[in-house]
Amino acid sequence: MISVRNGHGDAFETKAVRTEALALHLPRRACVRLLAQPSVPVDLPVDPYVFGYWLGDGQSANGNICVGMQDYEHLRAELIKTLRAYEDLGEAHYWQNMMMLNIRRRPELCPKGHDRTDNPRFSKAGHPICRRCTNGKAKHLPTLMSLHERLKSVGVIKNKHIPDLYLHAGTHQRRALLQGLMDSDGHIDKAGRAGFTNTNRRIVDGFVFVARSLGYKPQVRQHNTSGWIVSFAVNSTAPIVRLERKAARVVVATSRQARMKYIRSVTELTPDGHDQSPIFRSVLEL
Ligand SMILES: [Zn+2]
Repeated sequence: MISVRNGHGDAFETKAVRTEALALHLPRRACVRLLAQPSVPVDLPVDPYVFGYWLGDGQSANGNICVGMQDYEHLRAELIKTLRAYEDLGEAHYWQNMMMLNIRRRPELCPKGHDRTDNPRFSKAGHPICRRCTNGKAKHLPTLMSLHERLKSVGVIKNKHIPDLYLHAGTHQRRALLQGLMDSDGHIDKAGRAGFTNTNRRIVDGFVFVARSLGYKPQVRQHNTSGWIVSFAVNSTAPIVRLERKAARVVVATSRQARMKYIRSVTELTPDGHDQSPIFRSVLEL
């Protein structure tokens, strides 16, 4: 579906046009409505909201997440929602007004899920030993992976970035990921626009990719002290954050400019191999 200026001032009409027709005669000022790219949910090792929050405010070497007191109750509730049967939430004071939260395997369980409460044993170095694992009968049991281990399985420990698995996850999963990133390192400015600040260029690039896939028009600029700032208008009512104090500041942009992208050019590409149907590439103005 595209919108075409109909020759009467600013009025646009919307119609379905084949890409082939677009290429033959590109209508002046044709534009497409920005929408979230639909895709089906995939299996993710870590909840996408928690993953986004960890990318923003988590410790790179493990699964710990630091949070200020004002957002502590919110984050705690979000993390508890995602706990697996064998997990609980570890909490510790970090420094000043900060708390450190971590999703961990319940301390009484060994990695194979045996309860060690009634039979605690420790190695000479002080590490807990599971009597039922040490007799070699637990090799076939699946390991109950901690958050740290699950983050490691997607290659992000000490290597923060958004892996392809998450970049191309389901629509709702990508939105949850963006919300986690926004709740940790994002802000809503005085005009109600969304902003995201980070010093890690790979996270910034991933953020931009995910934001575009959800129909936003993010712009990146470099900042002297805080790395990069991504900013964009919130062009739909779909929630961009979960934190109430940030959500209250959002102003939904309804202008055509915020909701549309203009088509700049459409080019025919040479079909490759056996597929004889013409292929077109359309270039959109950002
Ligand atoms: Zn065991």
